[in-house]
Amino acid sequence: MNSKGIQYVCINCENTLKSLEEEWLWHCQSCGLDVSLLDNEKYNGKDVIGWTESASLFLKELRENNACKLLDLLSQYTDLKGKKLLDIGCAAGWFLSVAEKYQLIAIGIEPDTGIAQKGLDKGLDIKTAIFPDESIIDSKFDIVTFNDVFEHIKEPFTILSDVHQQLNEDGYLIINLPTSDGFIYRLSRFLSKLCYKPLFHRLWQKGYVSPHLYYYSNTNLKSLVEKCGFKLVAKDHLDILQIKNLYQRINHEGKINRIVSSTLYFSIILVYPLYKYVLPPDIMVHIYRKD
Ligand SMILES: [Zn+2]
Repeated sequence: MNSKGIQYVCINCENTLKSLEEEWLWHCQSCGLDVSLLDNEKYNGKDVIGWTESASLFLKELRENNACKLLDLLSQYTDLKGKKLLDIGCAAGWFLSVAEKYQLIAIGIEPDTGIAQKGLDKGLDIKTAIFPDESIIDSKFDIVTFNDVFEHIKEPFTILSDVHQQLNEDGYLIINLPTSDGFIYRLSRFLSKLCYKPLFHRLWQKGYVSPHLYYYSNTNLKSLVEKCGFKLVAKDHLDILQIKNLYQRINHEGKINRIVSSTLYFSIILVYPLYKYVLPPDIMVHIYRKD
């Protein structure tokens, strides 16, 4: 409960949430779920930042490598060739392009018309709509994916129930998303408590068109998804950083001066091996089978 007497309940375990140091941030002390109120303009602001082509370009290779890692992992459990995959919130279809290389029949659904059009221009099969939509309601899929999307969904139980209905028997659900177990998340939270908030706000995408509404851990994500008729069969992590294009990625918005960006760049290079091989990763992957 906060100073105004407001109470929220955890969607996963129904315990009362505890208000944290930010007015928009709540935490479940029972299952560890972090919950934001950033879908409210009062907390997220009016002049929100949208998707930019430049940010997407610097992430292209990293995303493609991660997509390959994810599909290689899935191929250990099921043969991918000719299977029908639905990517929910597919943006411009970067994951669909990789999925097609694995001979999957890949369909995406994306509510943002402008972004979806970029994928349609490349010949990808994208429905410009919000899931679940009548354009795919009669279709069954073998694989459903959420790539950096699940943490934006306000009512995950409703979506998971719809996914369950659209999956074939023995179908697979893949979720990858940032985790509260991660080193950068924990570091940013620590810095935020010391009153340096920009990194923590950036991780939540505060001030962006579609901010994060939840930060899940490996444990509470599994608990939540398994309540909806799925069984966790594999978990892994994806890379959040790559050294190639890192300097351009740091500078692409032009908001950081050169001394700060150079210092940041060389600091990351120094700690990168430690982060990649030792510290807890920030992007988790869960693969579930329909139970
Ligand atoms: Zn909880």
